Amino acid sequence: MAEPGKPKILIIEDEADIRELLAYNLRKEGFAALEAGDGRLGLEMARTHLPVLVLLDLMLPGMDGLTVCRELERDPSTAPIPIIMLTAKGEELDRVVGLELGADDYVVKPFSVRELILRIRNILKRQVQAVGASRLSRHGVTVNQSAHKANVNGKDVDLTATEFRLLGTLMRHAGQVLTREQLLDSVWGYQFEGYARTVDTHVRRLRSKLGDAADMIETVRGVGYRCKE
Ligand code: CA
Repeated sequence: MAEPGKPKILIIEDEADIRELLAYNLRKEGFAALEAGDGRLGLEMARTHLPVLVLLDLMLPGMDGLTVCRELERDPSTAPIPIIMLTAKGEELDRVVGLELGADDYVVKPFSVRELILRIRNILKRQVQAVGASRLSRHGVTVNQSAHKANVNGKDVDLTATEFRLLGTLMRHAGQVLTREQLLDSVWGYQFEGYARTVDTHVRRLRSKLGDAADMIETVRGVGYRCKE
């Protein structure tokens, strides 16, 4: 189905017009577009094809977008895949929940395809920049960017795409306090004051996955977070 060698993007959207428009434009931009018309099929395709990114509509028949998002984040094989949510006006609450569940970004319908493609490229680029050096190591935590793997004292930890970028960003700036806004900007790529608590949620989850090394990430009250030098 997908041409070999091209980065695969999976579109999970029940509205055929939107899905086809996205697929057409993504192919024009050099991606391989995979299409799923419902959540269950989308989930199955994500597990089979492991795309570089998922475009996920929130309002889907049967299994809704938030459930798909949760399932993608729960499965270690699909957790590292970045997700952009396709949302509608009036879905603000779902959008916040989606970001807390691990979605990386969202667009509001009707959106500009050109802007969406820019966001896709930004996320794929940030994925690379967050870690920078191909290997970062501190306090027993090692992040391997090319393999998209992290381990604590030699034991693999499964991180979502967001957690991976968050950890990479903090480690790369070890010793430096990063504000929630700075983290939003470099990990998620936009500034949105109302979603600052999204950062706290992800730091909390990241710490619990780091186990023994959790205290490597310090809370600097009233300011933000710092990775111990
Ligand atoms: Ca829909």
